[in-house]
Amino acid sequence: MTSSAAPTSAPYTLESMLHAIPKVELHCHLFGTVRHETFKQLNLRAGAPLAADEIESFYTRGEKPVGVLRVLRALDAQLVRGAGDLYQLTLEYLQDAASHNVRYAEFFWNPTGTVHGSGIPYAMAQGAIVRAIHDAQQEFGIVGRLIAAIDREASAEAAVEMVEWVKAHRCDEVIGIGIDYRENDRPPELFTQAYADAKKAGLKTTAHAGEFGMPWTNVRTALDVLQVDRIDHGYTVVDQPDFARQCAERGVIFTVVPTNSYYLRTLPPERWALDHPIRKMPGLGLRIHPNTDDPTLHKVTPTKAWLMMVRDFGFNLDDLRGFMHNGLDGAWIDDTQRRAWRTQWSEAFDTLRARLDTEPTSSPL
Ligand SMILES: [Zn+2]
Repeated sequence: MTSSAAPTSAPYTLESMLHAIPKVELHCHLFGTVRHETFKQLNLRAGAPLAADEIESFYTRGEKPVGVLRVLRALDAQLVRGAGDLYQLTLEYLQDAASHNVRYAEFFWNPTGTVHGSGIPYAMAQGAIVRAIHDAQQEFGIVGRLIAAIDREASAEAAVEMVEWVKAHRCDEVIGIGIDYRENDRPPELFTQAYADAKKAGLKTTAHAGEFGMPWTNVRTALDVLQVDRIDHGYTVVDQPDFARQCAERGVIFTVVPTNSYYLRTLPPERWALDHPIRKMPGLGLRIHPNTDDPTLHKVTPTKAWLMMVRDFGFNLDDLRGFMHNGLDGAWIDDTQRRAWRTQWSEAFDTLRARLDTEPTSSPL
């Protein structure tokens, strides 16, 4: 049924339309979704290891954002202390995503930090997150799936160990592995063994590559050596058009992040939207899908991430309809579900579009 897409007779603004369209989210980190209030509660529960002004600084997004990795490390090292914390964070993330009509979310969690930093055994941690996934589906109607992510700042051995934990506790809700944290000096090839083990065990795979201005060859390594199913970020492919064309021909899906800190920090504000690689990627034939990454820390929502694709990067609604299909094609769902959602969501998109007050026009480069 698509009747819920048009609850009133009032016209839709672009923002309310993008709120209403059914969405998948494929690139979001659990520790980047923590509500400000919850962060303060976790700090109190842990005996207030962080000063109040430090927490405020975590939740302040300046014009040149320093990035969020220090916040994620504080959660592992100081704040997340029990499986119940992971349950709460997961339930709240999925509730927040569902409130923006995200129907299906694949989200990252780093087991290495939880086990070695927080001291929570893997089975207990995974169990709490999976319980929250079940409860969120019951309460909010959203389907959540977990991607166990390699901490690339840790050793290759730790990555192999992490994949062993996932294999030893297989369940349907944990569908694949990824890799994140700082890519500088930690190229994908360091983690070949962990990826080979994961693929052999039937897990899906993705990788952050070509982020932080790291070379496009990291994207190639992720695709050709790690043999990942999709790419997170991948922006520097625009530096090498021949390789971009190969990615386009292969139909690689790139999960992109309009609020990515690196480009906000390094491009001049007046050029940021114009020179951003996201703007160039579809023109090279690349298949992209917009995501929130670390929504509460980036001050973004799924609706706003989609809105930025129009307002900042100049895409039109035909482009967005294509991005929606890219998301469904990149999602690790079965083909029956994929086909059903493609039909239903395309109808919902078109119904909402017909009731838009003013259709945006594209502003290509
Ligand atoms: Zn990310």
